[in-house]
This record gives sequence, structure tokens and C-alpha cells, in this order.
Amino acid sequence: MTPGGKKKRMTFFFRPVLLWMALIFSLTLLCLPAGGCGIGKGQVECREDAVLMDTLVSIKAYGEGASAAVGEAMEMIRKMDSLFDRYREGSDVWRVNEMAGVGPVLVDDLTFQLVEEGLFYGELTGGALDITVGPLVDLWQIGREGNDGGIPTPNEIEKRLSTVGYWKVVLDGNKRTVFLPEKGMSLDLGAVAKGFASRRAAELLRERGVRSASIAVGGNVYALGARPDGKPWQVGVKDPWSKDRLVAKLKVTGRAVDTAGGYERFLEVGGLRFSHIIDPRCGQPASKVVSATVVADDPVRADALATAVCVLGGEDGLALLDSLPDAAGLIITGDGKVLLSSRFSALLEDVQLSGGR
Ligand code: AMP
Ligand code: MG
Repeated sequence: MTPGGKKKRMTFFFRPVLLWMALIFSLTLLCLPAGGCGIGKGQVECREDAVLMDTLVSIKAYGEGASAAVGEAMEMIRKMDSLFDRYREGSDVWRVNEMAGVGPVLVDDLTFQLVEEGLFYGELTGGALDITVGPLVDLWQIGREGNDGGIPTPNEIEKRLSTVGYWKVVLDGNKRTVFLPEKGMSLDLGAVAKGFASRRAAELLRERGVRSASIAVGGNVYALGARPDGKPWQVGVKDPWSKDRLVAKLKVTGRAVDTAGGYERFLEVGGLRFSHIIDPRCGQPASKVVSATVVADDPVRADALATAVCVLGGEDGLALLDSLPDAAGLIITGDGKVLLSSRFSALLEDVQLSGGR
């Protein structure tokens, strides 16, 4: 922040390669043409890619029924995108935000579930993850096309902070309504929506009999079962400073791996990078962690915790992960240190580390 809260020009970076970098975190598989089915490892092998939820979505599945199931799963993610996108006029989240301070809004069952879960993670992370962070996201505009290269003044931040608070959201489970009681409040489900999409897609694939698949929604990767040859899936954790280098190779079966961080979407001023992940407690972009990778059974849990760890920083992030028996993480701090939570190796089939910077 500049002294006296004066606006200062900054260079704005939003790299279109973000979509492609999502592949770095995706599972290492045989290269198939973008979309379609073939025979691989003696089984039907189907893949579909799409740009949804502001990122690259890639689903690959094996076995009988994979073809129809992959298409259906992608359609479901498309539907969720249209419900959760706060910038899309008429979406559930857009309508809830429009009615802030006015009245409750009836939403789709999927939206209600995700809001409920987002509030749960607000509580679990002590407010590091807060789905009412929308007013601050709008103020900073990091990673958005409308960004004018300026940073907000302390007064502006203070004003917006007063409208943030997950505990204020009023849910009515019987009526399936969401109500933001104060004018200026605004939901942003961006930190949990990708995990929710992965989870629902995995549920659908399982219902259709698929026992081996990979679902990558941006940095959220879910390994459904093992690979068709029975081996674990492999997920690479990218070096935030060098796109061609991996800091770790993880082998995983039946679990989710989510990587969050400010190294793809950021504002830069005088060599300092401002992440698109905002600390809802002080209104500033999270700065202590460059990237956080979280492993958990459930993709939403991995998604929520990865974003929260970016806000909490290395020490508090590790403490949070160590307090949860079903989660673990790899944290890369601003000074290039690679920190592992105590259960990191236990939740993975194998971990190969290449070290920090
Ligand atoms: P992710 O990519 O999962 O880390 O989510 C980042 C997105 O979530 C951002 O682009 C914002 O839309 C939103 N967001 C930023 N900071 C937070 C936060 N502290 N809690 C909840 N959502 C956030
Ligand atoms: Mg997240």
C-alpha cells in the first residue's frame, strides 16, 4: 500500500497460460486428442476438455460407459458454472448478491449445498476462507480484465471490510434460500466451486460404473480410484518461479489434490506480487505463501483448505492441516521454503521432492 493511501499504478498480469498450467497439476496420462474416446491399456478411454469456471476442466475416464459418463459430468460442471458465477447476470450467486440487504433468494440445491459448505469452512479456518469476501475481490480486481492497475486506499479497504463476514449469511434450509442481510455484501464461491465441481463429477462417474478416472478443474485434481493398470495417478506440483520445473511429484489413489496460490493471477508493483487470494480479516492480498497444495479425501476440503492455507501462512497453515486427520499439505513460502505437514506422506502413495528455490 502506498503512504497516505494514494493510488499507485501497477503492472497487471493475468496470464492466459493459466488454463494450460492447470494441466501441470493434472494427472499424467496417455496423450489423447482433445476430446473423444479410444482404446488405451486394453480399456475404453475417454477424455473431454472445456474452459469452465474460469479455468481448464479436463475429465478422463476408463471402462464401459465412460463415454456417456464423461459427457454428462462435463454438462453438470457447465450447469454449476452457470449457477455459481457471480459475474453472470441471472446466476444464483448474482441474484443473491443483487438482493443483499433486501431479501432472501431461492437457489438451486447445488448452490445451497455449496454455500452451506463454504460457511462451514469459514468456521473451520477461523475466517481465513470466507465466501463473503466478494466486496474485497471487487475492490482489488486482481486477475480480472477490468483491473485498472491501481491498488485501493486504506479507507476503501476499511469500508469494504465492514461488509465481509461469513457468519452474517442467513440460510433457510426448508425454503432453500440464501440471504445477505447487509447492503454491499457479496458472495464469491470461487475458492470452493472447483472442488465442488470435481466432487459432483466424481459422484456422477461412480454412479455410471466408472472405477478409474481423473478430473482436473483448474488446480483441483481428483483421482477416482487408481489408474486402469492399478498404479496410482501422478500429480505434479509446479515450481511457482519456474514453469518448467516441478517441486514435487505425488502419487495418489482415490484422493483430491488442490493447489492454490498467487503466482498465476497477481498484480505486481516494484517487484512485489499481490495475490488474487485476499485475507478477509485485514482486506490485503495474502502474501506469506506462494503456493499451497492440499491432499484430502474430498475435493471441496482440499480446495477450501488450500486457499485458507495461502491466507494463514506457513506456520498457521501447517497447524490447521495437522489438526485435521484427513488432510495434509505442501506449502511453498515467499522465501522459497518447502514445508510439509506431518501427514503429507501418509496420504500419498509416494512423494518425490526436488527441493525449494
Ligand atoms: P482458489 O483458486 O481456490 O484459491 O480461489 C481463489 C478465488 O476465491 C479468488 O479468485 C476469489 O474469487 C476468491 N477468494 C479470494 N480470497 C478468498 C478468501 N480468503 N476466501 C474465500 N474466497 C476467496
Ligand atoms: Mg480453493
